[in-house]
Amino acid sequence: MSDNIYDLIRGRAPRLEKIALDCADGPPLSYGDLFARAGRAANALVKLGVEPGDRVAVQIDKSPDMIALALACFRVGAALLPLNTAYTLAELEYFLSNARPALVVCRPPALDQVRALADRLGIAAVESLGVGRDGTLAEKIADAPADFATIPRAGGDLAAILYTSGTTGRSKGAMLTHENLASNALVLVDYWRFTEADVLIHALPVFHTHGLFVATNVALLAGATMIYQPRFDADAIVKALPRATSLMGVPTFYTRLLAHGGVTRESTKHMRLFVSGSAPLLADTHQAWRAKTGHAILERYGMTETNMITSNPYDGDRVAGTVGFPLPGVSLRIAEPETGRILPQGEIGVIEVKGPNVFKGYWRMPEKTAEEFRSDGFFITGDLGKIDGRGYVHIVGRAKDLIISGGFNVYPKEIEVEIDALPGVDESAVIGLPHPDFGEGVTAVVVPKKGATLTEEGVLAALEGRLAKYKLPKRVFFVEELPRNTMGKVQKKVLREKRQGIYGA
Ligand code: AMP
Repeated sequence: MSDNIYDLIRGRAPRLEKIALDCADGPPLSYGDLFARAGRAANALVKLGVEPGDRVAVQIDKSPDMIALALACFRVGAALLPLNTAYTLAELEYFLSNARPALVVCRPPALDQVRALADRLGIAAVESLGVGRDGTLAEKIADAPADFATIPRAGGDLAAILYTSGTTGRSKGAMLTHENLASNALVLVDYWRFTEADVLIHALPVFHTHGLFVATNVALLAGATMIYQPRFDADAIVKALPRATSLMGVPTFYTRLLAHGGVTRESTKHMRLFVSGSAPLLADTHQAWRAKTGHAILERYGMTETNMITSNPYDGDRVAGTVGFPLPGVSLRIAEPETGRILPQGEIGVIEVKGPNVFKGYWRMPEKTAEEFRSDGFFITGDLGKIDGRGYVHIVGRAKDLIISGGFNVYPKEIEVEIDALPGVDESAVIGLPHPDFGEGVTAVVVPKKGATLTEEGVLAALEGRLAKYKLPKRVFFVEELPRNTMGKVQKKVLREKRQGIYGA
């Protein structure tokens, strides 16, 4: 028996005529079309010299061919290495030197530049693939036969390498196995009750685990249909709502959709599930969404290295500001960051996880890998959190965003929640900046609601008495919006860099 995730997807597929990808700007692809396209692409990859165990680096715009190419990599036993389309040529150089792929697939206009770079690095094959099935690889795919005997894989063989966004230091290639991907997607299909009757709006990027593995693998393993959109576009989502049953998005999808007049009880009547993840969903957004549509957004938590870790329940309370319970098969504990001592329920520490979902390690970085696993196999996520009395997991921020002021630990989330609750505040981010007295000074960056006038003194006065003195921000700054990356994560590093010297440290 092969544990190739492609075989699992193929084996669970519904009628081959069933639509897998309903595309905004092109003909729909049935399951049969998708498998045949993946077969052609697999033959093309082999002809280009790709062998089992090789890496295939892909930096292309979102199109159905990205999914076909992912399946083709699984079929030939190669590891897919998707790259953010925003990466520059200089950044690409790092990924290619580190990953040493057998083949690089780029956007058609970048072909010459990427070929020159690959030449320098001694990488032989570079092809291009565009959204309109244009490019050198598209021609090779079209000429190749659809039949391909999928290479058997063991569960522990690599299916993909996903580079982490690398907010500190160089990004690391997380090695994900066939078992990691398959086990996690199967759990999610059950947990979120996905079936063939589902129609999922897919508007996420496909170079990141959320869009590539959570959304796509769940939909394919359920035999569902995806309304496959090239990017987030509130109008396009609103238009798709009456035909869809589910949406997976990052929190910014929901805040932007809330501002769209087309999101109503009526327009979301056909929907059964809204999922949010990749960044914290504000309790405000959760409540506003519920008030407007009657649906409680289901928030889940995961990361590139671990796939999905926790989820709010399908039935039962979806508690705003929490990420729910560990998924079946996933063990989660809270530990003291420095010592690894397991902490009692309710205390804040670093979240550690173990299970079939957890990656195999960082590509060619055995020391980094060793640093981030405990001796009993638990992976240290770097997220700080706690488990409440009902078993719900709360995330209070990344360990590296923890503020230590005057020797006290200050968890940004606790202060952000208080600030966000003030009238006239849209959202906030709390950061620590070098301070001559305190080591770090608690600093708030606040986005006022449209039309609201807020002052630093006003915010500080409103927080007085609500938080212990050492947690109170020393300064409050106002901005129109917070800097976010493509997955909607607030880039605290950018905020810190901007205001480095304000306390004169
Ligand atoms: P990535 O590897 O890009 O998927 O980023 C993973 C990180 O995103 C996690 O380690 C968390 O810090 C953050 N994250 C993901 N989901 C959530 C969530 N629901 N709430 C808060 N943070 C989240």
